[in-house]
Amino acid sequence: MRCPGCARTGCAGLPNPIDSENTVNDAFLPFALPEIGDEEIAEVVDTLKSGWITTGPKARRFEQAFTEFLGDESLQSIAVNSATAGLHLALEALGIGPGDEVITTTHTFTATAEVVRYLGADVKLVDIDPATLNIDPAAIEAAITPRTRAILPVHYAGLAADMPSILGIAKRHGLKVVEDAAHALPTTSAGRLVGTLQSDATVFSFYANKTMTTGEGGMLVTRNPELAKRARVMRLHGMSRDAFDRFTAKVPSWYYEIVAPGFKYNLTDIAAALGLHQLARARGFQQRRAEIAAQYDAAFADLPVVTPPGPRAGDTHAWHLYVLRLAEAAPIGRDACIEALFAAGIGCSVHYIPLHQHPYWRERYGLRAEDFPHSQHAYERMLSLPIYTRMTDADVQRVIAAVRGALG
Ligand SMILES: *Cc1c(COP(=O)(O)O)cnc(C)c1O
Repeated sequence: MRCPGCARTGCAGLPNPIDSENTVNDAFLPFALPEIGDEEIAEVVDTLKSGWITTGPKARRFEQAFTEFLGDESLQSIAVNSATAGLHLALEALGIGPGDEVITTTHTFTATAEVVRYLGADVKLVDIDPATLNIDPAAIEAAITPRTRAILPVHYAGLAADMPSILGIAKRHGLKVVEDAAHALPTTSAGRLVGTLQSDATVFSFYANKTMTTGEGGMLVTRNPELAKRARVMRLHGMSRDAFDRFTAKVPSWYYEIVAPGFKYNLTDIAAALGLHQLARARGFQQRRAEIAAQYDAAFADLPVVTPPGPRAGDTHAWHLYVLRLAEAAPIGRDACIEALFAAGIGCSVHYIPLHQHPYWRERYGLRAEDFPHSQHAYERMLSLPIYTRMTDADVQRVIAAVRGALG
């Protein structure tokens, strides 16, 4: 069952954290809540009344607005119904298939890696840099074999992975790069927005708890016109023309050609209506989350914890997650800390149980925790605190007091 507060499955069976007025219940601060304003709601109503509710004019406008947001007209933005779909389409368009290997981090959500398996290719999981919790470029280089075709970095928590090193490795070894930017709107790397870097494709997520949301949704961004063309066709059943084209173009509306066995990955106009207004607010949302992160950093400076790494000077951290790690000197362990926070009415979570710990990945590739010492070490000590724009300053203070109460 999905928790209505944090939108995650299997969330400890807590009482409903949202009351009937859809406001945060005083008794419990959820781990995450989307911020949906009147403009989003009016736009959805407009869509519902328009008669065009699936992929159509608003999905187009959302794609154009997304490219404008990234500020690079050489990019194409392709709206999809999840980031998982976008990652799958990007790898498919790059021709990844059986016999190929794709390198990614063990410190991520399973969606990052599962798409490689959809295509019959193999996943090579590697460890993280303990300072940033992002994929370690040296570990990538060590994992390259003659079968390696692509690198799939994740901008963990909203902090850019070391893209200059990763793009350098890819260039030297002739590998493709697809960025999992599910946490990274907006994030910069050396002053440039993630989405505009020199990778082959970048994929953003608009899942309910991400930095902006369309309920479910994602965006595939690329500057490669061939990749874009293939992804657009495969997004909708491998049809040569999408439904909006067919019903608005001058040629007969009933005619189309199937050129491949494609997927059903298009984003609805209902979702795009939300996205148009969420995107317009994305920078403001980021500023609020950065403010909360700064308050946490200051408040926890004297506790036996490792606060999350900030961005490099001049760069933007999207602050999708605020991941606190308990130091050796902490009076209690991670599990007890989460229990204490729940008891104090604070929702928190763990991002993520590393992939090498899950039965499927462990057994499929014979993985051992010792092979991922940094991810394993972080996993055993980390928890994610609430960090979202609907939190008031009083909510932030409440989290701080609960953490200090548990660890002080
Ligand atoms: C949320 C998430 C995804 C999947 O996004 P969906 O839009 O839910 O498919 C992929 N990778 C990471 C790192 C995520 O956090």
